[in-house]
Formats: sequence, C-alpha cells, structure tokens
Amino acid sequence: MAIEIENVTYTYMKKTPYEKDALKKITLKIEKGSFVAVAGHTGSGKSTLMQHLNGLIAPSSGIVKVDGVNINSKGKGKIKARRSVGMVFQYPETQLFEETVYADIAFGPRNFGLAEAAVDKRVKEAMAFVSLDYAQYKDVSPFALSGGQMRRVAIAGIVALKPEYLVLDEPTAGLDPKAKHDLLKNIKDLYCEGNTTIIMVSHNMDDIIGLAGRIVVLNDGQIVADGAPQEIFMEKEILTSAGLRAPHLTQLLQKINEKALPVKLDCLNVATAA
Ligand code: ADP
Repeated sequence: MAIEIENVTYTYMKKTPYEKDALKKITLKIEKGSFVAVAGHTGSGKSTLMQHLNGLIAPSSGIVKVDGVNINSKGKGKIKARRSVGMVFQYPETQLFEETVYADIAFGPRNFGLAEAAVDKRVKEAMAFVSLDYAQYKDVSPFALSGGQMRRVAIAGIVALKPEYLVLDEPTAGLDPKAKHDLLKNIKDLYCEGNTTIIMVSHNMDDIIGLAGRIVVLNDGQIVADGAPQEIFMEKEILTSAGLRAPHLTQLLQKINEKALPVKLDCLNVATAA
C-alpha cells in the first residue's frame, strides 16, 4: 500500500504568457507507515505536489495512485481512495467557519455520513489528540481562540476523519515556539499510534530532524534529493541550492553523530524524543 506519483507534470495557466511548469515529471512512492518530509524553498512546487495527493488538482500529465487506485480515473474506488488522504493546508485556521469548536471539528465526519454518536466520539478523540480540553472548548467560538489553538482545531477537523495518509503543509508556520513544540509532539504521537502515514511539508530542517525517516527535496518542480535524513543532511550543496535554511546543520550533524539527537522518530522512545 502506498501513494504513487508517476511521471507527474503540472502546468499552471497553460497556453497563456504566464504558463508555468510547477512540477516536472515527478516520480515518487510514499509507502504506507512512513513519515516523509517534503522540503524545498518557496515556489519549488511543494504545495502543488501535495494538492495532487487527494485529487484536489489533477496532473497535466502522469498518474497519481492511492493504494493502487488512480484517483483521477473514472473507475470505482476513486472517492474512497481520495478520502484516505487527509489534507491540512497552510494556515488551515483560515478555513474555520462554524460557530463552535465542536461544530467545526464535527463538520467533516458528519459530511462523511457518520451517525451522531460516532461523530461525537471522533470529535472527543480529535480534541484530545490536539490537547484541547473537550469540556472547556467545545462550545467556544473558534474565532475567540489564540492562533495556536485555532490551528489545533483546524488540524483536529482533519484528524477526526481518521485519514490513513495525513498531509501537513507547513503545519508550524507562524506558530510561537511553545505552540510549535506542542503541535510537533501531537504529530509524533499520532504517527507512533501506528495507523497514520505522515507527509509533512517544511522548509525548516529543525522541524524535520528527529521526525521524518525520509526527506524529499524539491527544487524548481523537480526532486533533487530523496533519502534518509543522515544522507540528505550531508548534501549541503543540494540543500543550499534548494534554498533551504540550514543554519545549524553542522551542529545538528555533530549531535547526530554523537547520538545526542535522534535522526528520526524513535517511537519506542517517544517520551525522550519529545
Ligand atoms: P511551494 O509550495 O513550494 O511554495 P507552489 O507549489 O505553491 O510552491 O508553487 C510552485 C510554482 O507554481 C511557483 O512558481 C508558483 O508561483 C506557481 N504557482 C502556484 N500556484 C499558482 C497559481 N494558482 N497560478 C499560477 N501559478 C502558480
């Protein structure tokens, strides 16, 4: 089981003077159960690639398969395959719209046709997952919350759908250090529960290290590096030319070598890795 991207090219504004190939013949397989980071500077094609994973946009050429199903075909199973991929966009809190935290998180599961008792259970679980106290926050307007809390409500709304693949596009962008730490801890815990494959977009190596078991680096719509973190962090030239900020790279590498820093998420020691 996997998400398979085969030879995907995506062109914005085709046949206009602004035509732009945002993705150029990308081939990538994301195995179920993995934690993959997609890194690259602004404009490298990360968001465009992510929007292909649940069929939000269809490739100009090439194929996207989820667990063997072409999600842009007319065939059976397309909706189910798309729904197995949950998508947390950049600044997801801008999409909150319901009057209460409860209603916002319940919106997706209700839309999936779940019975109210099941919806209720999903909301409670999702709120616990993002560390929002149910009794305290369920009836509060999402717009009365802090930025970090709003982000958590938005993420809970996707987690409540129990996606098998969870795509997070720059989940920590704009958060203060504490909110960022808490959110990364929630993501670690979700991954370590064992039922969710995580695909996390980030341009910040500090967020990725100690989490992803694999890093895919995009530059100008192409994959320029793909491998285990310890391999990717050695590729300083590639990282620099991909515009990735890596100010502490030397120190990070030293800590990894001294085994003072886990290079990827170690679920058996998640408490210490946190
Ligand atoms: P990233 O997520 O890495 O910042 P994007 O996927 O957003 O990159 O963008 C890749 C390229 O596609 C950029 O050159 C960007 O300007 C262009 N692009 C993105 N969205 C649009 C759009 N809606 N219309 C035209 N060009 C776009």
